[in-house]
Amino acid sequence: MEKAKAENFDWPNLGFNYYDLPYSFHAEYKDGKWDEGKLTSDSTIKMSEAANVLHYGQEAFEGLKAYRRKDGGVNLFRPDMNAKRLHNSAERLLMAPFPEDRFVEAVKMVVKANQNFVPPYGSGATLYIRPFIIGTGEVIGVHPADKFQFHILVTPVGPYYKGGMKPTEYVTSPYDRAAHGGTGQSKVSGNYAASLLPGSLAHKNGYSDVVYLDPRLHENIEELGGANFFGITKDGKFKTPKSPSILPSITKKSLLQIADSFGMEPEETTISIYDLDQFSEAGAMGTAAVISPVGSITHNGNKHVFYSETEVGSYTQKLYDRLSGIQDGDQKGPDGWQVDVPLK
Ligand SMILES: *Cc1c(COP(=O)(O)O)cnc(C)c1O
Repeated sequence: MEKAKAENFDWPNLGFNYYDLPYSFHAEYKDGKWDEGKLTSDSTIKMSEAANVLHYGQEAFEGLKAYRRKDGGVNLFRPDMNAKRLHNSAERLLMAPFPEDRFVEAVKMVVKANQNFVPPYGSGATLYIRPFIIGTGEVIGVHPADKFQFHILVTPVGPYYKGGMKPTEYVTSPYDRAAHGGTGQSKVSGNYAASLLPGSLAHKNGYSDVVYLDPRLHENIEELGGANFFGITKDGKFKTPKSPSILPSITKKSLLQIADSFGMEPEETTISIYDLDQFSEAGAMGTAAVISPVGSITHNGNKHVFYSETEVGSYTQKLYDRLSGIQDGDQKGPDGWQVDVPLK
């Protein structure tokens, strides 16, 4: 694949695709330790055909964004939380965690090196950052690798909604995303491999994504595809599901705090698919979508419409404005949420 050139991008019309940018970050773990790591212009990975990742799935990843500020600078949003979550995911799969402080430094380094590809302020586009760890040690029996690689790739992505936020339609899935006691709390590729079929069935039937229900009773809401769920009750309270198989979203953690600051009495609690009438608004939350209003959920052929199938509710809009204002650097957020990337 050819290297991308910054002048060829039409920022506001960018989709969510991979472009091969000038630099990636690459570090290796062997003999019990991580090396220094370095920027590289090689965007391919060389490994043994017996690498664990290819057979037994030792892979964990992260997703965060670099945001261009009005003053031309670049911010990251809570990258220490991604460092910590990758650490937890790596431990769950018996992989060597990459040191958390060095994670944040490596993210800054790769963003700085590709700074011409951080889209302009106001375009709605951002630089998506994908750090990941893979088990590259050779195995044939089922056991953990003894060699790992840590990579960071970056690629510019467009605004999630071209022309403003729009509610979308969801459908419950007969499949499970993750088991209680499984890897639901870890951001690992295996969870996504399992989600491809349910996701594609939903798309084929005209839905934007699936609602996963809890794997025991198939009654309580877990997640929406690759995003966490929230509902706003008729009296303006913010609720989001609680379960041992949900991926702990950083966007969710942040919105819990923002909702609290708005007096919305946020709560993580069981949310039954048969109790959607309590909500006047609902949405999906995650780095890619920020906040995306859920227009409706169809379960067993019954379609439940929330606020509206075309309009965005006022609470959803208010939460979105605050969160994206902080991420873009227009509003000052709580301490530690906005991390400047030195560009010189
Ligand atoms: C990454 C991810 C999310 C969103 O997490 P953020 O930290 O907010 O980006 C939600 N659900 C799943 C399954 C994910 O993989």
